[in-house]
Amino acid sequence: MLTFEGKGIQAGVAIGKIKLWQKDAQTVKRRHIDDADAEMHRFSLAKEEAAKRLSALYDKALVEVGADGAAIFDIHRVMLDDGDYLDSVENIIRSEEVNAEYAVAATSENFVSMLLETGDEYMMARSADVKDISELLIKILTGADSSIVDDNELMIIAAEDLAPSETVQLDKSKVLAFVTEKGSANSHTAILARTMNIPAIIGVKIPDDCDNAPAIVDGASGKVYINPTDELREEMEKILAEEKSRRLLLEEMKGKDSLTLDGKKIKLYANIGNTKDLVLALQNDAEGIGLFRSEFIYLGRDSLPTEAEQFAVYKKVVQGMGDKKVIIRTLDIGADKQADYFNLCREENPAMGLRAIRLCLTRPDIFKTQLRALFRAAALGNLSVMYPMITSMAEVKRIKAIVKEIEEELTRDGIPYKTPEQGIMIETPAAVMISDKLAKEFSFFSIGTNDLAQYTLAIDRQNPCLDEFFEFHSEAVLRMIELVVKNAHKAGIWAGICGELAADTTITETLLKYGVDELSVSPSRILSVRKKIRETDIGNINLK
Ligand code: PEP
Ligand code: MG
Repeated sequence: MLTFEGKGIQAGVAIGKIKLWQKDAQTVKRRHIDDADAEMHRFSLAKEEAAKRLSALYDKALVEVGADGAAIFDIHRVMLDDGDYLDSVENIIRSEEVNAEYAVAATSENFVSMLLETGDEYMMARSADVKDISELLIKILTGADSSIVDDNELMIIAAEDLAPSETVQLDKSKVLAFVTEKGSANSHTAILARTMNIPAIIGVKIPDDCDNAPAIVDGASGKVYINPTDELREEMEKILAEEKSRRLLLEEMKGKDSLTLDGKKIKLYANIGNTKDLVLALQNDAEGIGLFRSEFIYLGRDSLPTEAEQFAVYKKVVQGMGDKKVIIRTLDIGADKQADYFNLCREENPAMGLRAIRLCLTRPDIFKTQLRALFRAAALGNLSVMYPMITSMAEVKRIKAIVKEIEEELTRDGIPYKTPEQGIMIETPAAVMISDKLAKEFSFFSIGTNDLAQYTLAIDRQNPCLDEFFEFHSEAVLRMIELVVKNAHKAGIWAGICGELAADTTITETLLKYGVDELSVSPSRILSVRKKIRETDIGNINLK
């Protein structure tokens, strides 16, 4: 048995097989081949397999994001039969007597630079498609494919790191736990693990030869055991059973009010990233959606989602929640959440770069498309919109001008819409300091403690080496929360928290004492937070 120790960021036990997740980027080696016909045969088999996988991806996307979103996989399937592309691969294999994966990589490089040189927007966008299909072919040819889509077994995913654009492609119903070498307690893999309520450990590198080995992950101790002994397996199976019965006990909280002992009603909402999480939110009895991270609609694809596609998603969430509140955050892309087709410049400090509202204000085309879809969906239910990463009143003015423009456009075109309630995220120290002024401009505040802690403590939330300096209950951040709530109430608006701190039941009393009105947490945390709220008597809390 091998034991590795890292840092547990989500408790729980998982027993299953380890699956090593390889990064998409691959290095392709050039190999001399003697039999060009045999190599061409290898290539045709890979092409057939690629077509099969694209069909499967099309079917999956059709269910998850609808026909418009799925269409890209159909386009890719057609591109696999492109005569020029195939001629080039064959030509390189035969004339240079090289392996098929090298020929595909070389063809891809040539085609991509040719397309980029045209300067034509449509052709340039196609270069991403050429790259995609080439990468798929190379993956199949090299056997480096780590996709778990085709696997029916539940797996413990081990990776160097997982970007949001990668996790969006995971079939999450097959993931038992995450083990990553990089990442931090506040990274998006950690947030995903909490949403899915599965154990997660960071700071562990699983050796390559452990792929497919039986393993146990213990999120509480931060340990990963490879080839565990029967004794350990029995012990862990017992813990798993206890966890299950604890969860059953929490079930009693379903249907109850999130009411403190002295009668304050707290809005207990869920954080979600897609329409699938909506099911988890409902299963866990969320009273609303406090944060829908809409950027996940933009990730794991090759082009911007259209207004129609977005409208379909927002409509599904709003209607799925009935008359309960749904707060959709506008696009928060940039920093760790990247999509190539945005063509953002490389930044030295992406967390402080062109992200979130800054990107939306500099690309009003993208912002307006999203707002139009949101305002149209608002006519169908209880939808609110919130803007991320606000730092100044100047940004507020620009947002309001764009909102006015889209209202005029929708009215002029006779398209039904409703101006939703609008709020902002307080996740920069700047927003905290001017929260008195901001409170007069919006209907609510939602404090994003993940970023607020990052910017206040000057600790990169992705950097695991800084974990020892990261205080979960930093006095600086807590005082900021207190000030923001005070300023919100002075202006007559409500203030909540949607960062990870909202789910930390060891600090719930303090947050409620500050007067926090709403807590928005991963679906799996709702019932334990409700239990804590119901045990709290705000009037009797003495803060030190
Ligand atoms: C936050 O910063 O606290 C937050 C909720 O937003 P995200 O984690 O998506 O940056
Ligand atoms: Mg944030």
